[in-house]
Amino acid sequence: MDTCKKCKNELDFWQVLKSFWLNYRSIKCFFCGALQQHADRNKLFGAFVIFLTLIFTARLLFTGEFNAMILLGYVLVTAFTAIIFSLGAVPFLRFNILQTQRFENKNKG
Ligand SMILES: [Zn+2]
Repeated sequence: MDTCKKCKNELDFWQVLKSFWLNYRSIKCFFCGALQQHADRNKLFGAFVIFLTLIFTARLLFTGEFNAMILLGYVLVTAFTAIIFSLGAVPFLRFNILQTQRFENKNKG
């Protein structure tokens, strides 16, 4: 899990997950209030989560039959899978502090 670039406290898992789902909305540090912006690479993780989800669930659409129940099941399974995969992506998300544009804390990895 990434830390606040100002006070070094760990960012809240659920807050990060929520901001990930709200189209990479910036989050406020729980401890010092500093605004944290999603790093560009987080969008790659987002694309990757969607990609994996579709690969994982696509086969459900090719069961031979097709009706409203199968479609509903597909939508539910896809949403559930996307949530599970995004849970796995949260620890890899990185943030930049919004106020300063300097890169003194360049992350490795
Ligand atoms: Zn902070």
